[in-house]
Parts: sequence; C-alpha cells; structure tokens
Amino acid sequence: MRRRSAAICLRTGDYSETSQVAGFLTRDDGKVDLLAKGAKRAKSATGGPIDVLAEGELVYIPASREGLGTLVEFAETVARPGLRRDSRRLNAAMFMLELVGALLGEADPHVEVFDLLHNALDRLTAPQAQVGAVLAYFQWRLLRHVGLLGELARCVACGRRIAGAGRKDVHFSSIQGGLLCGACEGASTEKFRLSGAALAGLAALAAAEAGVKVTLPDKQATAVNRVLAYHAAHQIGRALKMARHAID
Ligand SMILES: [Zn+2]
Repeated sequence: MRRRSAAICLRTGDYSETSQVAGFLTRDDGKVDLLAKGAKRAKSATGGPIDVLAEGELVYIPASREGLGTLVEFAETVARPGLRRDSRRLNAAMFMLELVGALLGEADPHVEVFDLLHNALDRLTAPQAQVGAVLAYFQWRLLRHVGLLGELARCVACGRRIAGAGRKDVHFSSIQGGLLCGACEGASTEKFRLSGAALAGLAALAAAEAGVKVTLPDKQATAVNRVLAYHAAHQIGRALKMARHAID
C-alpha cells in the first residue's frame, strides 16, 4: 500500500547507473530506505537525482519485510538554497542528518524529530543564523527526545547540584549519563572535561528548554556542541564523521 508523507532526504547512494538508494526521515513513518528506480534520469518521478537535504512530499511503497521500499514520487516543496552556499551552515546541516540517521531506528515514527530537523534547517537558512547555537539546541533536543540527554544539573554520582559556570573539574560521563563533580570524577575513566563555557552553555540550553529566552554566544555553543557530539558518538559506538567539520 502506498504511503504519503512529508520527508527530508538523509542520504543517497548509487544503486545502478540510473537508480539511487535514498534514505529519508518521513514525518509520519520515521526513517525509510527506498529504491528510487530511474531517479538519475532527468525525466523520472523525482525530476532527476535526489539530493541529500531535499525536503518535500514523498510517496512510496514500504518494504514488505526487510530491505528497501520503493520510491513512487518525490517532489521538493521546501527550497533552502542559502544552506548549500555556505560551508559552515551546510556542515552543521549534514551533521544533523548524520545524528538523526544514527540515533533513530528504521520505520519508528518520531514526528517531533522531523519537526525539530525541519525547524533547525529553516533556522540555518536564515540570513543572520547563529549556526553554533542552532546546532547546540538541535543536539540537545534530539538527545532529549531519544532519551539520552542525561543529568546535566547534578552530579550523577553524589547528587550535588553543579549547574552553571564557575565550578572546577566538572566532567561529563557518557556511560554514567551526566555530570560528575570534582570530588567524583576521579573514579571514572570515561569522561569529558567541561570548560566554564561548556557549563554556562549547558545551563543556557536548560533555561531555553524551560521557555526562558537566552542567547548562546559562539564560544559557549562550540563548547556545548563538543560535549554533546562526544556523548552522541559514545552512545552510537562510533565516530561521527561530520562532527569535526560542523564544530570548529
Ligand atoms: Zn559528585
């Protein structure tokens, strides 16, 4: 049975001389991998090859068991030309796609993640986009949504409150799932040292999530992006190849 959904292309690969395999995040059905027969021909149901980051209306036939579904039609409805012209924005967007691809399972619907990605790509396209801050908020919300964000206000070992800047020797442990205070970090080998900027940035994002309007200066955004990318890669169990390009 045919399915129709808004979708964002996460990745593409060659299948044959004229056909592509394309991975999409659909709004209604989650991630799907589809065979796009003849997509590389100009007169195809997609009007030519599908590009990563393209967003539009997708019609497809789901895979019967495992393997690839079949793309019937894909029409781009959202144009974000500004995104591809600026390498910093493009790298941030590609890292977002990589994170979504790695953190979500197949055919497991996450409407919130689709909307989060859609909105983040829109924000990255805005002329005055704060690229680091957009990425930091995206990583925070995505990790929260998949249940991995962890404890970022207290020490996970002793429960002491450590939110905000001005604390020394605070670390983040991906295995333990949160912050470790200076008294507890020594017992953990897997840890990431947090700068004052990282702690301030994490506190700002917690405030933003609670509905407070905050600004995230570049230095804080970069520091937060590093720790959240470290955490995501650790949870996924492999390096994320776009991380170092997306985070300066
Ligand atoms: Zn502690």
